[in-house]
Amino acid sequence: MTRTKHFHTIVIGAGPGGLTCATLLAEKGMDVLVVERNTSIGMKVCAGGVTWSGLARHLPEELIEKPFNRQYIHSGMQKTVIRETEPIISTINREKIGKWMADKALKAGVTLLSGTAVTQITDSEVVTKSGRYTFRYLVGADGSNSLVRRTLNIPTKRIGVGVHYQVPGNFPKMIWHLDPDLFKTGYAWVFPHSNSASVGAYANRADLSPKTLKEKLHNWIKKHDININGLKPEAATVNFDYRGWHFGNTFLVGDAAGLASGLTGEGIYPAVCSGETVAKTIIDPGYESKTFTGLIKKHRRHTRLLSLCSTNTFFAKIILESLIAALRFNIINFKALEMGD
Ligand SMILES: Cc1cc2nc3c(=O)[nH]c(=O)nc-3n(C[C@H](O)[C@H](O)[C@H](O)COP(=O)(O)OP(=O)(O)OC[C@H]3O[C@@H](n4cnc5c(N)ncnc54)[C@H](O)[C@@H]3O)c2cc1C
Repeated sequence: MTRTKHFHTIVIGAGPGGLTCATLLAEKGMDVLVVERNTSIGMKVCAGGVTWSGLARHLPEELIEKPFNRQYIHSGMQKTVIRETEPIISTINREKIGKWMADKALKAGVTLLSGTAVTQITDSEVVTKSGRYTFRYLVGADGSNSLVRRTLNIPTKRIGVGVHYQVPGNFPKMIWHLDPDLFKTGYAWVFPHSNSASVGAYANRADLSPKTLKEKLHNWIKKHDININGLKPEAATVNFDYRGWHFGNTFLVGDAAGLASGLTGEGIYPAVCSGETVAKTIIDPGYESKTFTGLIKKHRRHTRLLSLCSTNTFFAKIILESLIAALRFNIINFKALEMGD
């Protein structure tokens, strides 16, 4: 341990939330360090779906893999297709987006320390194997098992689990399959990319254990004739236990703050939106964001609906079938399921 260097802001985690926050601060002239434990930026277990109302409309076209104006929604009792003029969801490659965001951060003047895990945090210092760094502001953008959150003693009880395979081939449709008999309050998906698709399932861990979720996904994959021979599953958690984002000179962003949707697992846009809000709040402590307030309202609504569905499987069936019928007859818009407005 040789160096102690001071930064205006230290961001832990170079995911979409951390990089968005760091770039905005550096563009305003702040001295920012981002510490990332992975050597490569953008590696993340993810289906890679971004909503139009969230991130998709702000991305350059070359970063979009496949846009989908139609969403195929299946359940035990119904099959429906939701259509919009704009692509409702587009798929992106997390590694490409990660590199694009990292390039922007570096151009803005961010110091990016990759391949370096933060092992300890004190009131004024971040400790890594290669050095100690002091800060005025600390941003925890370190995902669903956040060390910053744990250091703040904030518990994490509400957690979702996602498991998926990246299956080679050409898949024409973006599919959601809601069936409480299989996935309780969760769902299975097919999210097509350029030459493959993310085929997976997501559920609230309180409703379905990761092991059972994987078994149910395998049954579903078999029934739908999708070949996963020789492929390895990837799984990760999604924190949706939101308990605040601003704690003195420490902030939480994205999954670290529990801002992903407990209902759908959508977390990229909440990470970017909260990263932006944290940066603007550090620059101007009086800053208020209507978009971020709207995101928190949506998050609360998604959590409430999930809690209602979690009561029992019969109740979940009634609610989810009613939800699909409401989408089908245009009583509610697909945007109600998205985290953006
Ligand atoms: C199977 C699955 C599918 C999903 N599909 C979608 C989807 O289609 N669309 C969507 O919007 N969301 C999806 N999500 C959720 C989404 O991936 C996350 O919500 C999103 O990545 C959160 O971004 P973030 O910036 O908060 O954190 P992350 O992207 O998790 O980034 C956190 C970063 O912090 C780093 N880090 C952690 N601890 C340390 C440490 N101690 N020191 C240094 N670095 C550290 C990590 O290496 C990581 O790079 C999915 C999740 C799963 C599990």
